[in-house]
Amino acid sequence: MGNKNNTKKPKFKIDKIRRPVQFVLGITIYILLQAGIISLGMIVILGSFLGIIFGKVFCRWLCPIGIVMEVLLKAAPDEKARGMYQYHKLGCPIAWISGLLNRISLFTIRKNPLNKCINCNKCDEICYISNLNSSFSLYKEDHKNPADSYTCSRCYQCVEVCPVNYLEFKIRKF
Ligand code: SF4
Ligand code: SF4
Repeated sequence: MGNKNNTKKPKFKIDKIRRPVQFVLGITIYILLQAGIISLGMIVILGSFLGIIFGKVFCRWLCPIGIVMEVLLKAAPDEKARGMYQYHKLGCPIAWISGLLNRISLFTIRKNPLNKCINCNKCDEICYISNLNSSFSLYKEDHKNPADSYTCSRCYQCVEVCPVNYLEFKIRKF
């Protein structure tokens, strides 16, 4: 299966983009909220709307509380402990609503049929969902798809780590 994309490396580190975006948007949302320009209800509507398009992006890309949590979680003993927070996030209506929309969001993490998975398992190693629950896998056909799970926070690390660009974030094929 000789597709030239098979040897492509990921082009950038997603966190180099995500963290500045989350910082700017999160702080902006916080300031607007404190100033009374927007309400909590409007933020829930925004998170839900983004959920329809991208899935549960609000937590990792826009949430001011998410910024604080990520700073605090730097003190966590390992990546698994940090994953536990993302996996078991409770109590936030935006997380629940947009998480449930992961299953039908317009954009999702898809397998590119033009590229060939080499079964390196790197995606499942980096994904906190498949890490914490072995019934999930990003590439094993008989497993549940973590990207459809309400716990997927669209960190895109599975896409970034895939050495052959088999995983990609694109419009869902319905
Ligand atoms: S984006 Fe990928 S690595 Fe991140 S939580 Fe979702 S499925 Fe797992
Ligand atoms: S990282 Fe990519 S190539 Fe490796 S197992 Fe996952 S989907 Fe397959």
